[in-house]
Amino acid sequence: MSPRPDLGPKPRLGYTASSIDRAAERRADAAALAALENDARSRSYVIGGELVVLRKATPVHDPLFTLAEARALGRSAELVFLGFLDGAARFALALDPSTAEGFKTREEFIVTDLRSIAIRGLVDADHLPPVAEGKALLHWHARHRFCSNCGAPTNLVEGGWRRDCPSCKGQHFPRTDPVVIMLPVAGERCVLGRSHRFQAGMWSCLAGFIEPGESIEDAVRRETREEVGIVCGRVAYFATQPWPFPTSLMIGCHAEARSEEIIIDRGELDDARWFDREEVAAMLLRRHPDGLTTPPSVAIAYHIIRAWVEDEVEP
Ligand SMILES: [Zn+2]
Repeated sequence: MSPRPDLGPKPRLGYTASSIDRAAERRADAAALAALENDARSRSYVIGGELVVLRKATPVHDPLFTLAEARALGRSAELVFLGFLDGAARFALALDPSTAEGFKTREEFIVTDLRSIAIRGLVDADHLPPVAEGKALLHWHARHRFCSNCGAPTNLVEGGWRRDCPSCKGQHFPRTDPVVIMLPVAGERCVLGRSHRFQAGMWSCLAGFIEPGESIEDAVRRETREEVGIVCGRVAYFATQPWPFPTSLMIGCHAEARSEEIIIDRGELDDARWFDREEVAAMLLRRHPDGLTTPPSVAIAYHIIRAWVEDEVEP
């Protein structure tokens, strides 16, 4: 086995380790939530579809607005209660996406997508988990304004953590979609793939949605077989990451590859192949001779790949 490469200090995984107290016990108290909306210490993130509105500042931009400021920005939809941070209530407001788009030309704002905000470090990293929480929750609301049981318009209740149907009395709760993201490994080698939408030179883990009635382990084995034709044995859980694009939970795993031949599903992947540990270490360090890279460290794929390179897993 090759010696463990020195990859430097471990970066923080994006959107995780939230400092927010979600204070779920407060959600049912409409009067208390209304009081928090009017509390001068309360702040809101402003999210227009995929876009987040930031106020220009140095060294990092400011994503927080008073609720009056947020509402004055333009036509908005849902306001949701995220919890408490630094002793004050945090909300997220759904701004009309076209209004957010229009703010791109305004001198006082930076308006961009959450991936760019995370990768470029545009805000303090502690803001990423609550913005992810708000973005995923608001996305759910935008697509669940009608009852999936009877079709009647539903009402936001509990600070945005439920929608109730006045017609059939159905209660609807925000969902998270579980996705397996895995690295098939065999000794000193692993399989990486390239999606059609990846930037040139980037290779990553394989991934796919868990289907109803399926365990994490079975989903890892099925997706790996479907995408690259590799048969997997043992599956080892690594870590998870909320992935608000739009509402996923990435479940990171390493899988023991028990076959060799790669058969690529060209509908899913642009390419896939075996890599040895040394080559992957060069990719993590951005020192690959052909410029090949892994995903950035805000993404769990980086951490799944790095843990294998550093010999910290035993699938
Ligand atoms: Zn209904």
